[in-house]
Amino acid sequence: MTSKELMERRNRVLPKAMYTTSTLNAASAKGAVFYDAEGVEYIDFSGGIGVLNAGHCPAPVSRAIAKQAQTLMHTFFNVLTHEPYVLLAEKLVEILPHGEATKVMFVSTGAEAVENAVKIARQATGRQGIICYTGGFHGRTLMGMSLTSKVSYKTGCGPFAPEIYRLPFPDYYHNGHGQAFDAFVEQELENFKKYLSTVVAPDNVAAVILEPVQGEGGFYIVPPRYLQGLHEICKQHGILLILDEVQSGFGRTGKWAAYEHYGVIPDISTWAKSMGSGIPIAAVMGKAEVMDKALPGTLGGTYAGNPVACAGALASIEYMQQIDINRKGEQVGQTLLNFFTKLKKECPAIGEVRGLGAMVAIELVKNQNPNLPDPDLTKNLVAACAARGLFLISAGVYGNVIRVLCPLVISQPMLKKGLEIMREELLKLS
Ligand code: PMP
Repeated sequence: MTSKELMERRNRVLPKAMYTTSTLNAASAKGAVFYDAEGVEYIDFSGGIGVLNAGHCPAPVSRAIAKQAQTLMHTFFNVLTHEPYVLLAEKLVEILPHGEATKVMFVSTGAEAVENAVKIARQATGRQGIICYTGGFHGRTLMGMSLTSKVSYKTGCGPFAPEIYRLPFPDYYHNGHGQAFDAFVEQELENFKKYLSTVVAPDNVAAVILEPVQGEGGFYIVPPRYLQGLHEICKQHGILLILDEVQSGFGRTGKWAAYEHYGVIPDISTWAKSMGSGIPIAAVMGKAEVMDKALPGTLGGTYAGNPVACAGALASIEYMQQIDINRKGEQVGQTLLNFFTKLKKECPAIGEVRGLGAMVAIELVKNQNPNLPDPDLTKNLVAACAARGLFLISAGVYGNVIRVLCPLVISQPMLKKGLEIMREELLKLS
């Protein structure tokens, strides 16, 4: 089928809401590139939105999936235990300990991981309220949408889940207003404390959920002192801290978990995306004493921890360990940060360059004003780069952020080739 035919046929049978932000298609892929139906090569700076840290189709993962599919393709884990589930759980506990004793359970998507994290937090505390943040993204299920900030992800989909409370994200770029950074962070922590007196009482709050680096929101990074201070406040009030690592995990920031940069260990964490290199699997992890508070019968699902998914994810993690994915994340991040910091000096449309490890983004604004987003320039840049064989994706509540989520196995020459295309097109368009 040609690319044109594929799009026409797609539009005939798919609802309009299943839109794509580009007119490209992928017929095959390897490493950091994909090929369309005509065999045209694209450098992939989207990485399946953070799924492909280990690259497209890593051979050990493909092999493990094929082998498991021929041995045991399915049991319903709630009724029949299988080995790949336990091996994967042990591997995660080994690389991501949550204190002295850690427990883990599997589901199929990031949104489901968030749903289950909330179910566990509510059972563990006997409380209902969940505090989340502006710009946060936590999935497309009812709870996921309720916790998600961007309005266009949920227009007309309500009513949303009750007992959700939202605070402004500690975003210095937009809300710092010339204040010293440290003073801004202290003020945001004070605002959190006030919130517990003016909006919701702490003994009604089960958990606070946030992404250490907001993904869909536009790669805003939680200031270290804020997360540490928030953790302290949560501990004082018996509120659980849930960190959503669905996009930031597995080497993206140069560590298995972005929270490792902060010296904070959450009570509960959520994982998906690059854990399985493309196979649908997600995890909820947490301190054993918290995880064990959820009652038997309240967690599970037909495909949750399916043997093929577990075998694929185990091979994916072992492969990432073998190639030292965290080192690769650091290296890719360094190249991105250096390149964009230099480019910002030539290009006034770049309002801010920010990043943690390889989770690096540029924000495009008018007149160097953080509050004048430039989504049109962003869209035009994405289209111009696609025409030259570089696949980019945007992010941000206003759609004015370009985030790089390229596979971390990308070679330095290919990474630089992609960045050079971006540079030339941005300078032409701005
Ligand atoms: N949390 C975060 C931080 C995410 O980035 C995403 C997906 N972009 C999700 C949750 C939802 O994951 P999924 O699409 O697998 O349901």
